[in-house]
Amino acid sequence: MRLAKPNSNQRAILNGMRHEVLEQMHHMPFLEPADLPSLEQVRLGVLRSNATQRHGVTRWNVQPSGELVVEVVDLHPALLNDEWRDYALFVLFHEFLHVLGHRAHNASFRSMEAQWPDITGASRGKSFTHERRLARAKWHWVCPTCDLRFPRQRRGGGRYLCRTCRTVLLDVSTQDIE
Ligand SMILES: [Zn+2]
Ligand SMILES: [Zn+2]
Repeated sequence: MRLAKPNSNQRAILNGMRHEVLEQMHHMPFLEPADLPSLEQVRLGVLRSNATQRHGVTRWNVQPSGELVVEVVDLHPALLNDEWRDYALFVLFHEFLHVLGHRAHNASFRSMEAQWPDITGASRGKSFTHERRLARAKWHWVCPTCDLRFPRQRRGGGRYLCRTCRTVLLDVSTQDIE
């Protein structure tokens, strides 16, 4: 499963974010300053745009010697805009910790991750997932009584009730919205 190549605009944004993240990382006493220059060289790319759960990933190559070498750090392309920039910086920081050799999401990884100074930016993962689901939905299950909408990939086919008023939800194609 190969990924999309970043275009020149995406590459410029990714490199700008790299510098911002590294600037923060230079102030983190638990990191070895000698390790940080390696992060200047890591290739940055973008995930396929239909990913909803993965927001960033570090891909490794296994060398013939068995050694693992970072191939690329990919971010979700929808993170590369101003609206999500604060969260994108945190995701990149998370991936950079992996690149530095902290491969597991264990307690020590989580405590390093918690040193990211922008707590608001770091906490936007669920909202980003939700926004991706909305963007991908082919159908909205709509309650004709209270107008609640549930974004979904599939039709409901009359099998689901509104959780507020128990009316049968109707399928509305997102092609018909706006
Ligand atoms: Zn991770
Ligand atoms: Zn309802």
